[in-house]
Amino acid sequence: MAAKRDYYDVLGISGNATPEDVKKAFRKLAMKYHPDRNNSGDASEQFKAVNEAYEVLSDQEKRAMYDRFGHAGPQQAFGGARGFEGFGFSGFGDIFDAFFGGSTARRGGPRRGADLRQSVRISFEEAAFGTDQTISVDGYELCSRCAGRRAEPGSEPERCRNCEGTGELRRVQQSVFGQFVNVSMCDRCQGEGAVVSKPCKTCRGRGYEEKTRKLQVKIPAGIDNGAQMRLTGEGEVGERGGPRGNLYLQVNVKSHKHFQRDGDDLIYNLEVNFAQAALGDQTEIPTLEKPHSLRIPSGTQSGQVFVLRGQGVPHLRSGGRGDLLVHTHVVTPKNLSAEQKELLARLAESMGTPLSPDDKGLLNKIKDALG
Ligand SMILES: [Zn+2]
Ligand SMILES: [Zn+2]
Repeated sequence: MAAKRDYYDVLGISGNATPEDVKKAFRKLAMKYHPDRNNSGDASEQFKAVNEAYEVLSDQEKRAMYDRFGHAGPQQAFGGARGFEGFGFSGFGDIFDAFFGGSTARRGGPRRGADLRQSVRISFEEAAFGTDQTISVDGYELCSRCAGRRAEPGSEPERCRNCEGTGELRRVQQSVFGQFVNVSMCDRCQGEGAVVSKPCKTCRGRGYEEKTRKLQVKIPAGIDNGAQMRLTGEGEVGERGGPRGNLYLQVNVKSHKHFQRDGDDLIYNLEVNFAQAALGDQTEIPTLEKPHSLRIPSGTQSGQVFVLRGQGVPHLRSGGRGDLLVHTHVVTPKNLSAEQKELLARLAESMGTPLSPDDKGLLNKIKDALG
């Protein structure tokens, strides 16, 4: 037997791929190599390899074993009962179905389209006040030439002789428990019940085309970073008239140069100096709209919070807005001029805490003492 390819290579992902990455890679490759959609010579082999890699890498336990022991890992640990080598043609349905719904043994009925995932990055203000975004969505659509019928326009798919159009093969088998019927997908028509003799030129008989759709999305005011929107029916097209899947849109919000967000409240850090804090001052606070004038009262302490009511982010599902919280930080000055030092020294004296000499003065005193 030829050396097995590394599972990560098979899926084209790195060793630290997230479960989501594994899923995504599998989905893409399964679509590419699925015998329904790809009739090139080695597609079926590739499809098996992709399924096998996915079965291991999508399972946390098996993946950990694989990472430690390589190909021998999962097999040793989980026994040969489901033997990875014995992955038969009709066996790979399980995983594929988990993604695309329906049954591969019988494929006659409609199938819901796959869900898609996409993300969009918007500004802080757009998140606060809502925005219309145009996003590009990549996915499979019905072929524009054959409308998903797979046959070249003017020709018809022919009923499969192998399964007489049922898409499945029934074999009666004998076992110690008696007779049972083994149903598997017809390998001539891949369960379709029909064979396309003149494949559509555009999609080469797959019925689907990879397309990029532009989608206009209304993002509601008040949405927060990381929120996920479900766009019902904007996923991939279904099979045989099945409904479309959904599109899950993750909204990523850029950070703001002034504000941090805490739910629907905004936090603004205001630095004031000791004189402003002690005597009070009028200052300008940025808001999401125009600057707001704020009076810092005399005797303001570091850490004191001023609340600008209703200047925060609009609530997502109700009227009203959060608040803007101004956190005050009294900053101790550095690099004072001689005059400023003089003023502060006099202030200290008048407050009854005349200052001790600085380090240099202290050093001189020590020198004097030592003679
Ligand atoms: Zn076509
Ligand atoms: Zn058939």
